[in-house]
Amino acid sequence: MKYISTRGAAPALNFEATMLTGLARDGGLYLPDHVPPMTQAEIASLAGLSYEEQAYVIMRPFIGDTFADDEFRSLIARAYQGFGHPARAPLKQLAPNHFLLELFHGPTLAFKDFAMQLIGQLFQAALARSRDRVTIVGATSGDTGSAAIEAFKGLDNVDVFILFPHGRVSDVQRRQMTTPAESNVHALAIDGDFDTCQALVKDMFNDFSFRDGVKLAGVNSINWARVLAQVVYYFSAAVSLGAPYRAVSFTVPTGNFGDIFAGYIARQMGLPIEKLIVATNQNDILHRAITSGGYVTDGVKPSISPSMDIQVSSNFERALFDAYGRDGAAVAQLMDELKSSGGFHISQGALEFLREIFTSGRASEGETSQTISRIHANTAEILCPHSAVGVHVAEQNLSATPMVTLATAHPAKFPDAVESAMGTRPALPERMADLFDRPERVTRLSGDLAELQAHIRGNIRK
Ligand SMILES: *Cc1c(COP(=O)(O)O)cnc(C)c1O
Repeated sequence: MKYISTRGAAPALNFEATMLTGLARDGGLYLPDHVPPMTQAEIASLAGLSYEEQAYVIMRPFIGDTFADDEFRSLIARAYQGFGHPARAPLKQLAPNHFLLELFHGPTLAFKDFAMQLIGQLFQAALARSRDRVTIVGATSGDTGSAAIEAFKGLDNVDVFILFPHGRVSDVQRRQMTTPAESNVHALAIDGDFDTCQALVKDMFNDFSFRDGVKLAGVNSINWARVLAQVVYYFSAAVSLGAPYRAVSFTVPTGNFGDIFAGYIARQMGLPIEKLIVATNQNDILHRAITSGGYVTDGVKPSISPSMDIQVSSNFERALFDAYGRDGAAVAQLMDELKSSGGFHISQGALEFLREIFTSGRASEGETSQTISRIHANTAEILCPHSAVGVHVAEQNLSATPMVTLATAHPAKFPDAVESAMGTRPALPERMADLFDRPERVTRLSGDLAELQAHIRGNIRK
C-alpha cells in the first residue's frame, strides 16, 4: 500500500516513511491510495477477540512490510499493557439505545493514548532498526502533548518538544507535560493559543533545511499512524453492539477532526456506520461548515472543553480530499484561500458528499455543564466536559440505530469544570495521585519562529 498527499504534489510513501514524516512536503496530509475493505465475515469474526487481537486484524493491511506479523503483534501488546482497564475501550450504557465508549483508561487519561502509545512502540522499533534518530515536535491543546511525552520519554533515539498555549491548559494537563524527569522531554509554553502553536509546527515542517537538519518528525493528529490506531475502537464498539448485522452511529467530540476521521475510515472499510456526528463546543467552525458550507475562521474562544478550542481543523483536509474526488490541486487551492482570506466555501457537490456521512451539532458552555450534572444524577457516570459536549449533541440525534458517544477524557483531567458543574471534585486515579507533588520543568517562549528553532537546535542530543 502507498500513501499519497491530499495536495497531490508530494512523493508517495510507504507506511514507515509516512509514519516518520507526519506532514507531506507539499503541506498536505497523507492518506492511503486505497482503503482495503473488510468483508462481513471478517468483521463478524472480530466478535469475542481481545482489543489487541482486533487491532492486529484491522491495522495489518495498512502497514505493508514495515513490520513482520509477530513483531507487529508484540508492539500492539506492549502499547496497551499500561492501560487501566482490561477491555481497553469499555462500552457503558447511558440510556435506551445510547452508549458511552470510555477512551480514557490509558496512562494520560485521554483517548490520545490509544494512538500515541502505539506509535511510541512503532517509532522505537523502526528507529532501532535503521539506527537513526528523530526530533519530535508537536502542538497541543493539552492532551496530545501529555500523551506524546508519556509515549516517547526516555527513548534513546528521540528528542521530544511539545508546544502548548501558555495558561490555556488545565493544571493536570500541564503537569503531565512538565513533570517527567527524562532529559529528552521538553515542554514549551508558547504565548498564544493552540492555533499559534499548530502554525509554528507547520512552519517548521515547511522549512526544509531545518526539517532535514534536526530530522523533524510529527506526531500531531495529522500523522496517519495515529488516525489508523483510532480506527480500531470504532470496530470494537460496533461489533459489541451487533455489527456487521446492525448499523451503529457515533457522536464524536471534535477539535482537529482526527478522531472522527478514523470513524470515516472504519466506515470506508465496510463497518456499517449510519452517521458520524461532529460535536463541537462554542468553537463551532465545523458545525457551521457542515450546516452552511462556509468554512470561516472566527477566533478561538476559550471554553471549559479546552482540547476542542480549535478553529483550523487540520484533518478536515482529508475529508475534503475525498469530497473533491481526490483532486489534490482543488484541495491545495482551498487551503491557500484559507491562509490568505481566513476561509473558503465548500462546493455543493462536496457538501452533499460530506452530509451523506456527517451530521453536526454544538453545545454551549451552559449546555455542557448541565449535561455533566444531569448525567451524573441519572446514571452516576461522571463525564469530562468534552464527553459532555458529545452526549449533549448525541441526545439530539437519537434514533432506532444505536448511538455511541465517545468519552474522550477522564473527568479528573478537568476537575474545575466538573466541580463547578456537579459540586464534587473528581479524583485522579491512584497511579497518578502524586502528580501535584512532582517538580515542574518548562520553557516559556514568545511564539517567534526563529527563537523556537534556535531553542530546538540547541537542545537536541547530537
Ligand atoms: C484531542 C481531544 C479531542 C478532539 O479530538 P480531535 O481528534 O482533535 O477531533 C476531544 N476531546 C479530548 C479530551 C481531546 O483530548
